[in-house]
Amino acid sequence: MNIILLGPPGAGKGTQAQKLIKELNAVQIATGDIFRYNIKNETDLGKQAKSYIDEGKLVPDKLTIDLVWDFLDKVEDGKSILLDGFPRNITQAEALDEGMQKRNSKIDYVVNIKVPDDILIERISGRRVCVETGATYHIKYNPPKVEGIDDETGFPLIQRSDDTEEKVKTRIDLYNNTTAVLIDYYDKEGILITIDGTKTPDEVTKDILKALGK
Ligand code: ADP
Ligand code: AMP
Repeated sequence: MNIILLGPPGAGKGTQAQKLIKELNAVQIATGDIFRYNIKNETDLGKQAKSYIDEGKLVPDKLTIDLVWDFLDKVEDGKSILLDGFPRNITQAEALDEGMQKRNSKIDYVVNIKVPDDILIERISGRRVCVETGATYHIKYNPPKVEGIDDETGFPLIQRSDDTEEKVKTRIDLYNNTTAVLIDYYDKEGILITIDGTKTPDEVTKDILKALGK
């Protein structure tokens, strides 16, 4: 079963991906996590992506699509795939369709996680992440056992440089103007599932699994 998690920044895509990969025995690709890891390690990809991410803009399609195609090439046949943060526009959605066809596969469901803007801003301002593993916490709603430390690996947690209130507003606008059209795109394909993302993380996971028939 191949699934896209769709929703504005802060909707809980990364949080749900962490839970769902275990339940669905899937492999995850989170383009934002990959970019951040590459920026931290000062790779070529990181250098090319950094200025766009810092400004809350989309990284150019070519770079992002190449990254996803590369990933798809490496995934074992028959393995379930969970996409978090990709696609973010129609060009990327069409490239994904093509990449999946090459695998003789397709996207089965798109989970649209809905959360109002005021909640998104509160969630994002308290978000802390582990750049090594992509694990996500919240200082109030999902605190780590020890402040500033990833529970599982002991790596440090950071506040993302694009998680300031000003950049969050830019990113939410970008979502509404560029990415939200994908809701219609996938609804027309008959594979869209809409989930209330304002419940607790565990309740949201339960609702998603139920909607997927699991
Ligand atoms: P996204 O990947 O969609 O940008 P995240 O999964 O990183 O969103 O979640 C954003 C922030 O909100 C994180 O700090 C996370 O811990 C917190 N969060 C996620 N889901 C919930 C929820 N259902 N209730 C409260 N806080 C949540
Ligand atoms: P995220 O971790 O999903 O919030 O993504 C963080 C940032 O990485 C975004 O604001 C973009 O700058 C960049 N990014 C992540 N995924 C994509 C994508 N599919 N297309 C373009 N840019 C992306």
